[in-house]
Amino acid sequence: MRELYQEMILDHNKRPRNQGVVDEANAHADGHNPLCGDTIHLTLMVEGGRVKDVKFEGHGCAISTASASLMTEAVMGKTVEQAHDLFQRFHRMVTEDGYVDDSEEFERLVVLAGVKEFPNRVKCATLAWHTLESALSGQAEVSTE
Ligand code: ZN
Repeated sequence: MRELYQEMILDHNKRPRNQGVVDEANAHADGHNPLCGDTIHLTLMVEGGRVKDVKFEGHGCAISTASASLMTEAVMGKTVEQAHDLFQRFHRMVTEDGYVDDSEEFERLVVLAGVKEFPNRVKCATLAWHTLESALSGQAEVSTE
């Protein structure tokens, strides 16, 4: 099981989904994790309270890149409230002992649950999500520090 998860993280790191910049984006944010050096530039097109398009660029470790890739897949097409809700649940998954989310949306996100055992990597895994929160609430910059 663990190997399968690792493979998925490596795959998303090697071939990140939704990479680039959204044309005519109406929400964006830059995220920075100084502990590891991960950076992310996130652009979104939000229409009628729904995430119509989301893309990211930047550079960072395998965990941060895979997490950004998985995050964009998870929130694509979701409402802003659903995206907030996913952020909160993702955050609980990587920080709270014993928190298990077996919902359909977490079928893929669960590959990152293992970072809980490595506190230094939690910020790598949550960077994309914090950046998403900032973009959706109109803040253009976020640091995980
Ligand atoms: Zn990192």
